[in-house]
Amino acid sequence: MAEVAYVNASRVFPGSPPVRAVDQLGLDVSDGEFLVLVGPSGSGKSTALRMLAGLEDVDEGSVTIGGKDVTNVPPKGRDIAMVFQSYALYPHMTVAENMGFALKLRGVPKATIKEKVAEAATMLDLTKYLDRKPKALSGGQRQRVAMGRAIVREPSVFLMDEPLSNLDAKLRVETRANIAALQQRLGTTTIYVTHDQVEAMTMGHRVAVLKDGVLQQCDTPRNLYERPANAFVAGFMGSPAMNLKTVPLAADGAQLDGLSVPLPRQMLDAAARAGLSEVTFGVRPESLHLTGADESGMELVVELVEELGADAYIYGTARIGDRPERFIVRVDSRTPPALGQTVRVTVRDPNEVHLFHPETGDRLQAA
Ligand code: ADP
Ligand code: MG
Repeated sequence: MAEVAYVNASRVFPGSPPVRAVDQLGLDVSDGEFLVLVGPSGSGKSTALRMLAGLEDVDEGSVTIGGKDVTNVPPKGRDIAMVFQSYALYPHMTVAENMGFALKLRGVPKATIKEKVAEAATMLDLTKYLDRKPKALSGGQRQRVAMGRAIVREPSVFLMDEPLSNLDAKLRVETRANIAALQQRLGTTTIYVTHDQVEAMTMGHRVAVLKDGVLQQCDTPRNLYERPANAFVAGFMGSPAMNLKTVPLAADGAQLDGLSVPLPRQMLDAAARAGLSEVTFGVRPESLHLTGADESGMELVVELVEELGADAYIYGTARIGDRPERFIVRVDSRTPPALGQTVRVTVRDPNEVHLFHPETGDRLQAA
């Protein structure tokens, strides 16, 4: 087991212009932690993981495992095990042979290999498949063999790159819970890459959000959700996404059409300090609600009703100034409004509003 660190580590791919796939990444992962790297496609997640594995050069800065600088250590010397999206199982080997192969290469005695493979197979519920070849397994079983292959090596660090992408939705949810439980039980430091923010939120002790190779924020799922550091993180984490709109500020709050949202003094002070007359106003769908007939609110024409069983969301258009703006609102799933209906919407609690700088996107902080 080991802690892991990226120390201002960059990977710059040559070209004109060069691509800073990972840009000055600084990140400390504690011993035993489950850290998720999340971001849209092309944000540098795989490159960051491969830098730690030794499969990609580190052009600036360094990477450490267990406190030791491994920047120039070949992959074999890093004591990590990687699980990829394509499980890359050997087709001609049985499940047991696939799982034990790395140990065999290392010259581990046969009896020990057998024991370790059996132990991992029990954990992963693979015991009855040990003699099968990969082609005779389902996708979920193959995924578990790939996990088993990593586990038997007893590495200091697991590196996983979108290991659930090839599974169907139901199996993905099941497997993500199993992987989280297994990691808890083994206590092995794990860095897990996904583009799926739900996976990130449900699996990670902490989640690091990347955009264009740059770390945006690294925090617990709850803190990312409740205090996103910038408008990008705010919009990326959470589904359906946070409503993010540029709105003018009035003396005591934000001015939406037909709705003045009173804002806490600290928020207004922060905007004033930044000299802003407009802000990026963020409010999650669950922080908006429909008003009663006699209450004021922002008028919204309902264009789509998404019923998910326990929840329902309406998508509708309001006007801010002379611009039409799309808002998403969570509503009671038993009595959703009808398509085309005009509803009035208000903010549940001004403390659930997020304000960001309209140009930099940074969260406006209370002093
Ligand atoms: P992610 O895993 O988040 O989808 P990647 O780490 O694969 O992103 O890629 C990050 C960026 O680096 C992308 O712009 C990608 O096109 C670029 N990139 C990745 N690998 C190479 C390479 N071998 N040569 C040039 N550019 C690359
Ligand atoms: Mg990738």
